[in-house]
Amino acid sequence: MYDVIIVGAGPTGASAALFTAKAGKKTLLLDSDQSITKKAWIENHYGVMEITGPDLVDIGQKQAQKFGAELVQEKVTDIEKNGDGFDVKTESKQYQGKHVILATGLSIELAEKIGLEIKPGTEPRIKQIVAVDQNGKTSVDGIWAAGTVAGTSVHTIITAGDGARVAINIISELNGERYVDHDVLKG
Ligand SMILES: Cc1cc2nc3c(=O)[nH]c(=O)nc-3n(C[C@H](O)[C@H](O)[C@H](O)COP(=O)(O)OP(=O)(O)OC[C@H]3O[C@@H](n4cnc5c(N)ncnc54)[C@H](O)[C@@H]3O)c2cc1C
Repeated sequence: MYDVIIVGAGPTGASAALFTAKAGKKTLLLDSDQSITKKAWIENHYGVMEITGPDLVDIGQKQAQKFGAELVQEKVTDIEKNGDGFDVKTESKQYQGKHVILATGLSIELAEKIGLEIKPGTEPRIKQIVAVDQNGKTSVDGIWAAGTVAGTSVHTIITAGDGARVAINIISELNGERYVDHDVLKG
């Protein structure tokens, strides 16, 4: 049983996985390798002078794996409630997770399939998004959404930030107190 299963390993999903894995939560990233970020050339991501989209996505996934997140290249086809968790189904396998984060970018296909509340998008060229509350919770308890699919501005620094924000909300819920992840410069 994973503590957190994250669907989508673009900036949103990998950033969320970095935080949940680094917090010691058993984390699974499932991704179908259709990230729009892989088409980008990025010069407006704070702290990074310039970077290709493919490199940003690759580094983000490696950061999450460095802290123990598992990354599996599979498409999630369905999610079903099972006891106090969820069965997350892919084309070939099934995984169990306590919490699920949808970080599926432009795609609301899975969200619609599992019956989440959908609403019109507000960002340019974004038709529909998953309805979430201020914490990132969707209309199904235990399923969260972040980044582009949750209606944020479609920029890597913001989607990555939103993934981290929602991850911290889940970690805090699992720990029963607000979570902070600060490392200190040595020497
Ligand atoms: C041409 C172009 C140029 C851009 N330039 C910039 C720029 O200069 N600066 C900037 O800040 N932003 C730029 N962006 C926007 C940037 O890509 C987005 O802001 C953002 O980072 C999207 O991140 P995301 O994680 O929400 O979505 P994505 O990066 O699209 O990741 C979503 C992931 O979810 C996966 N997924 C979806 N459904 C499933 C499923 N059912 N099962 C498993 N996996 C699934 C997909 O395969 C994908 O890997 C650009 C975008 C484009 C297209």
